[in-house]
Amino acid sequence: MAVLVTGGAGFIGSHLVNYYLRNTDSKIFLIDNISTGQKENLPKSSQVDLIEGDVRDSALVEDIVRRSDVVYHLAAAVGVENIVENPLDSLQTNIEGTQNVLDTAAGDGTPVFIASSSEVYGKSPEVPFSEDDDRVVGPTTVPRWGYANAKALDEFYALAHHEENDLPVVVGRFFNTVGPRQVGEYGMVVPTFVEQALAGDPITVYGDGTQTRCFTHVRDAVEAVHELMNTPAANGHVFNIGSSQPVSINELAERVLEITGSDSRVEHIPFEEAFDEDFEEPTRREPDVSKLRETIGWAPETSLDRILEDVVEERRENVEASS
Ligand code: UDP
Repeated sequence: MAVLVTGGAGFIGSHLVNYYLRNTDSKIFLIDNISTGQKENLPKSSQVDLIEGDVRDSALVEDIVRRSDVVYHLAAAVGVENIVENPLDSLQTNIEGTQNVLDTAAGDGTPVFIASSSEVYGKSPEVPFSEDDDRVVGPTTVPRWGYANAKALDEFYALAHHEENDLPVVVGRFFNTVGPRQVGEYGMVVPTFVEQALAGDPITVYGDGTQTRCFTHVRDAVEAVHELMNTPAANGHVFNIGSSQPVSINELAERVLEITGSDSRVEHIPFEEAFDEDFEEPTRREPDVSKLRETIGWAPETSLDRILEDVVEERRENVEASS
């Protein structure tokens, strides 16, 4: 059995690779251009074969997809800061890359998992979000909505291949997946706050901090992904993957301060200062995970405190190792 994980050196991808190594003896191909991913994320194992390359390279994708029995397509431009700063590169990666994977997989009927995002719901006020709910996205002049629409287009494309070519596909919409190995440099809040707290720097809460998110441990998310791909009833469906415990960003900052024992102060920064005048932000983001629960019996196991403890422990180990 050969598995392909695109974006396998990335945050979620590398945890999926670990899961496969722990639970199977599959050969694992990775395609990763080491842009936001890191080689250090990868375990040293003869089962793992990293092919450094870009998912926009259709010849490369074709070659490796053809040699694989199942594909997890996780390669993508990620992180709100990254997407807002590099809109063109993000759109090309997230649209062309997915088309390359799906078009090749459709030729051989190779099952594909498509990593989508809770961003597709946009700024809809109707929480919790169910998979068939309407999407509410803003104008094309706001780059964030380009990301939301690119991911939605990926979903349309996957479902169209399923419909017209019988391609086995599962789409997973990740909700604020966090944990060890996630880096803060593309704007993700948990690693950013933990690093600020450990350094004694101000914790930068954007806006008034009342916006809420549901944070999910990457380990729980990866288990759900694997289970979905091994459940025939999931084929051709879209699933929310996330915890249903909303927490405000102000509360998150407080938890990080308590768990790290840091005396950093909390600094509120207006969105227009952190980004620009046009920036838009979903205020409440919460998944309805009943479809996931009914299909695979999944419920996230890890509390927010436990997630933060894992991240803090990893960051402290990294600091010790580099000093
Ligand atoms: N956020 C923040 N300070 C930061 C980074 C992010 O207050 O330094 C907020 C951000 O505005 C959002 C939440 O934390 O409300 C989650 O941000 P992230 O970029 O991790 O994920 P998003 O849900 O925006 O995709």
